[in-house]
Amino acid sequence: MREPVEPLRFDGKYFWLAADARGEAEAHFRRWYIRAGRDWLRERTTALARKTGAGASRIEVRDLGFRWGSCGKHGVVFFNWRLLQLPVRLIDYVIIHELVHIQEPHHSPAFWQAIDRALPAWRTLKDTLHNDGARFLVFGMDSLRSL
Ligand SMILES: [Zn+2]
Repeated sequence: MREPVEPLRFDGKYFWLAADARGEAEAHFRRWYIRAGRDWLRERTTALARKTGAGASRIEVRDLGFRWGSCGKHGVVFFNWRLLQLPVRLIDYVIIHELVHIQEPHHSPAFWQAIDRALPAWRTLKDTLHNDGARFLVFGMDSLRSL
């Protein structure tokens, strides 16, 4: 008996998408990124929490539309699955931004001071994310085009 073939798999270097799955390519990639990215983001968030002083109680990877991340109640941090297509330095900025929101809910001067302490290069990263973030997206770009 043959093993059931995954419509999308990653061999460490290339993605393989079954020919009959092309029509739903974006849905397959979204599922793959959410599954593969959840553990990675959890570890990265735990590591970066040492810089911000506040850890997330839980992280969730989901579709957040045009937002890269969001901070919910009780220290729950949400990340957009599209984030996983960005360079790590930009992902780090989003993680730190949301972690700082746990203690500073608004973009107040105290918020930006805390960002500055955790990530001195934040200004460049913020600009790059804002101006070029959507360029890195192969999948899920439509909802970000309006930004
Ligand atoms: Zn914010």
